[in-house]
Amino acid sequence: MHIADILSGGSTSISFEFFPPKTDSGFEALYRSIAEFEPLAPSFVSVTYGAGGSTRDNTHRLVVRLRRETSLEPVPHLTCFGHTKDDIRRILEMYAAAGVGNILALRGDPPAGARILALGDFQHAADLVAFIRREGERLGVNDGRGFGIGVAGFPEGHPETPNTLVQIEHLKAKVDAGADYIVTQLFFDNGAFHDWRARCDLARIKVPIIAGIMPITTATGLRRMADLAAGTRFPASLLKALDRCRGDARAIEDAGIHWATEQCRDLLDKDIPGIHFYTLNKSDATQRIYRTLGVRAR
Ligand code: FAD
Repeated sequence: MHIADILSGGSTSISFEFFPPKTDSGFEALYRSIAEFEPLAPSFVSVTYGAGGSTRDNTHRLVVRLRRETSLEPVPHLTCFGHTKDDIRRILEMYAAAGVGNILALRGDPPAGARILALGDFQHAADLVAFIRREGERLGVNDGRGFGIGVAGFPEGHPETPNTLVQIEHLKAKVDAGADYIVTQLFFDNGAFHDWRARCDLARIKVPIIAGIMPITTATGLRRMADLAAGTRFPASLLKALDRCRGDARAIEDAGIHWATEQCRDLLDKDIPGIHFYTLNKSDATQRIYRTLGVRAR
């Protein structure tokens, strides 16, 4: 199903993100998690793509298996960094043949030290969006409408573009190139998100914005997140709540889940079109949040 149709359905879309494991045992554990997620009937599930290379085939394998063997709507992430147009065309043809009709289009990040202009046929995600749009129509995906295309948004800024006015222009370029919706980087400060959403509106970015939420469940996870999502603000009241739980793993998990639940409640109150959970392939924390919210995905 085209994600634009899901998002125009009226209720909040709820989606989950997985990453492709590197080992067979990792895959088996993920399939067990997926079996726990499936009864929640999420609007879609997305699968990340390693811009570095080694797990790329695993993304394709997982997405095609989700399509064939589950009731879930899989949305593969696809990064253009380091890819030629022929590479991307082949991947899109494979997805179209497997009945996968939606793609999250990203640039990806170069490996440390790589010269970004030297690698691949695409410089920015907007170029990839335009290419996927044309190829999807050529392949007759979604009865000729082409692929449903999502892109990334960064409520607290992207490290490469410190000028936040310019950054919104770059986001708008992705939408103008054919993106149907935006999924945000994870954030913990809803105030920053709401302000950014209002700025998107001022910039005439009218496609639905799906908020990315990741509950903190461990003290080490917090540090990893700060690395992975550079620039993300950790509000003092969140850090104080976690600090009070220092040394008690269960209490840290409860505090992190509570924070993420309150974020979701506020987003739902403000009629957000969708919430996307970064699950880290584990269902417990997301399930606990989901159950308390009283929402039903479709
Ligand atoms: P772009 O939109 O191309 O932006 C990248 C930078 O270039 C920004 O600073 C932007 O302002 C700037 N820029 C854009 N256009 C121009 C222009 N015309 N001129 C000058 N500068 C410009 N990474 C992965 O490797 N695999 C994944 O599966 C993955 N999934 C993600 C999912 C989500 C929801 C998010 C938020 C991020 C994900 N990422 C993933 C990370 C993402 O690839 C990186 O953050 C990357 O640096 C930015 O990607 P982008 O698609 O936003 O790129």
